[in-house]
Amino acid sequence: MKKVYNFSAGPSKLPEEVLKEAKENLVDYQGNGFSVMEISHRGAVFDSIYKETIALIRQIYEIPDNFEVLFMQGGASLQFALVPLNLYCGGVGEYVDTGVWSSKAIKEAAIQGINHKVVASSAEFGYRFIPDINFSDDADFAYITSNNTIYGTEYKSFPSTKAPLIVDASSDIFSYKIDWNKVSLLFAGAQKNAGPSGLTIVVIKKDLLNLVKPNVPTMLRYDTYAQNESMFNTPPTFGIYMLNLVCKWILKQGGVENIRLINEKKANLLYDLFENSDGFYRAYAQENSRSNMNVVFNIKDKDEKLEKELVKFAEENDMIGLKGHRHIGGLRASIYNAVTLSEVEALANLLQEFRMKH
Ligand code: PMP
Repeated sequence: MKKVYNFSAGPSKLPEEVLKEAKENLVDYQGNGFSVMEISHRGAVFDSIYKETIALIRQIYEIPDNFEVLFMQGGASLQFALVPLNLYCGGVGEYVDTGVWSSKAIKEAAIQGINHKVVASSAEFGYRFIPDINFSDDADFAYITSNNTIYGTEYKSFPSTKAPLIVDASSDIFSYKIDWNKVSLLFAGAQKNAGPSGLTIVVIKKDLLNLVKPNVPTMLRYDTYAQNESMFNTPPTFGIYMLNLVCKWILKQGGVENIRLINEKKANLLYDLFENSDGFYRAYAQENSRSNMNVVFNIKDKDEKLEKELVKFAEENDMIGLKGHRHIGGLRASIYNAVTLSEVEALANLLQEFRMKH
């Protein structure tokens, strides 16, 4: 098989051994003669996959008993609407605006006509950093986006809040330990660090489930999923199976704390290279907010011609996914959990080679 270095922002690289195991079981699941995709979500075989996956997530993330783990669909984008729909209680929903994805969440609050407030934003600075935050103690919820996929910014720690903290961790789930004393709800589309697209993971504090009002439709209620083991209707069974394999892979890597250390090494390799490039490469994000997941950068002062040339040069060398997001252009190397240190080293070598040529 051709070796490709995949730096895509999501859906993105999955661990090779996960894909291989899935391939083996795709047609004949553990010698049963059926595919894992062909069985009832209510049967014994899938039930054990489901239960094991929940247990693995709880283990990996050290999730306390007063939280539920839910599997939903509709992507992280549906969560933007569900958070205010389920948790707004007539007070104020407070948001931090750190880019496109938090803006989209804020828009969903506006659509629902709830009282909401942006308490901090780095919009006028091109979202190059995580702003200082002060949430009100009595807000109905306090909302943040832990990693900003487009700009390459990431919280170094979560704010301490009295109001329930809601975290969109779509692009950095399973990449560090979570302090569950600080978080009340964490959600993520699976397609970056957790599996294929089509599955959304929600970890929610049980007491929030009591806030949901009677007029919220069944499939849009967190309590429906909590009361029905996420199987009020047919869940995305194949995605859950893939997540199961990814969780086992995470444990094999030594868990999220070990993964964090490796990720830090990977990211620093690139950021250090930029710092030592005499201004040829420039990280987009400010130093104190740089992401370990998405390394966003420019060549010189946004030299678009050279940036395009680099994308082409990388592709000629079997490296894909380096083009920046259309909102800000430039370049982006997404180095999620499954991207190995040696793959990032190969990218660093290519970046050095490209710089020497220009
Ligand atoms: N939040 C963040 C931080 C994201 O990166 C993305 C997608 N890249 C989304 C939300 C939207 O996710 P989805 O496509 O699953 O709705």
